[in-house]
Amino acid sequence: MRFTKITASIGPKCEDKKTLKQMIAAGVNICRLNFSHDTGAVQGKKIDMIRKISDELHTPVAIMIDLQGPKHRIGNFETEDKYPLKIGQKFTFDSDPTPGDSTRVQLPDADVMKSLNVGDRILLNDGKIEMTVDSTSPDKIVATVVRGDEIWSRRGFNLPDTEIDTSVLTDKDRADLEYAITKNPDWVAISFVQRPEDIAEVRDFITARTSHPIKIVAKIERPNAVERISEIAAAADGIMIARGDLAVEIPFERVPAISRHIIRECRKMNKPVIMATQMLGTMVNSEFPTRAEISDVANTAYLRADSAMTSEETTIGINPVNVINTMNKILSYADTDAIANPYDWSRVENVPENDWSRSVASMAYLNRAAAIVVFARDTNIATQIACRKPDIPIVAVCAEQGIANQLCMLRGVFPVFDTDLYAHRDGFNAAHKFGVVSGKLVIVDDDKISLRTLS
Ligand code: PEP
Repeated sequence: MRFTKITASIGPKCEDKKTLKQMIAAGVNICRLNFSHDTGAVQGKKIDMIRKISDELHTPVAIMIDLQGPKHRIGNFETEDKYPLKIGQKFTFDSDPTPGDSTRVQLPDADVMKSLNVGDRILLNDGKIEMTVDSTSPDKIVATVVRGDEIWSRRGFNLPDTEIDTSVLTDKDRADLEYAITKNPDWVAISFVQRPEDIAEVRDFITARTSHPIKIVAKIERPNAVERISEIAAAADGIMIARGDLAVEIPFERVPAISRHIIRECRKMNKPVIMATQMLGTMVNSEFPTRAEISDVANTAYLRADSAMTSEETTIGINPVNVINTMNKILSYADTDAIANPYDWSRVENVPENDWSRSVASMAYLNRAAAIVVFARDTNIATQIACRKPDIPIVAVCAEQGIANQLCMLRGVFPVFDTDLYAHRDGFNAAHKFGVVSGKLVIVDDDKISLRTLS
């Protein structure tokens, strides 16, 4: 059994039905649809196709839509050429849409312009260019070049020192979310979250439009979000460690330590966590991962994160099915090894000893249970137990397909949508479905917890 889930980004190289079906059969648990690229009905068709494949394979699959968020870019230059920069020279960002040159360019976002302060760093082109702000005014920022030698049109604009006074939902995100809600996605990922209020804003937007309980993932990619991680994890339903932008805005050597910290905070807050970006990046062009990538994927399992995510390696890579097979192999082996060297119960951080989910997990562990069976009326009970990382499979018998889909996100949770098993509280047959044929079962049915022997 693989405990660590696979989130696959879906893009041009894997959105035909045959490839997508092979990927889901190979182990994809969550399909990520990135609204930075396609939007509206184009994404809607993919959602319909994933639901159909899930039905055909009798496998629950979560659909996570990922909103672009307030990603900032500079405007265009006079030509498509690269414009030279010299260390120490002044460079101006202004509100003038006239094409830029080697001294100035438009910055289209007024909110960014008014949020910057003297001394703040500006990073462009994935951090390859660094500037420091010398002066600000409502429509003009003058900065000094500290690093980088060329600039060109539409480069990404990151502000690691600045809290940007803007909504986490752009007009584009609102339109995308409005549409996506009509397709009942299981999860929505929010980009460039800065504060817990951002989650409340998105939740209000959703609940004003649907009673479908769509869950929210906060993408952690800004330093101010890292600082407020426990509040953000408390407000959201899950967290993505978005290492792409995170490693631009924060010195890259800190990213592994921050990732471990986020995983610990999520465990305390009973929230699943996805490790994202460049996990098998070289497989965009290669059939084999690097040794370093193999270790990165395996370490995601050893850290007991809930999910490892693919990005370009599945969206534009040469062989997306091979990427999923590769990830499945690495995670399965690492999970088996991690479970053989069990979780150290003395290290369950900051969860009170009398916490019920901790008691369930330790009961299962001390009785060497073969599985924990949860009758899942909603996602709460299975989620809380999963966040204790019991290293014992949690079979979640769900009364609704949507609950089974959402639980696909949780490490070690094996959801099954089956109204008969649920109605008859048939834990034995539920365990059987996942190959558990003998041993003890811890059965959790709301607040009733029992130990049964399956033989
Ligand atoms: C990231 O920055 O790591 C990430 C997942 O975000 P996106 O791919 O949406 O830029």
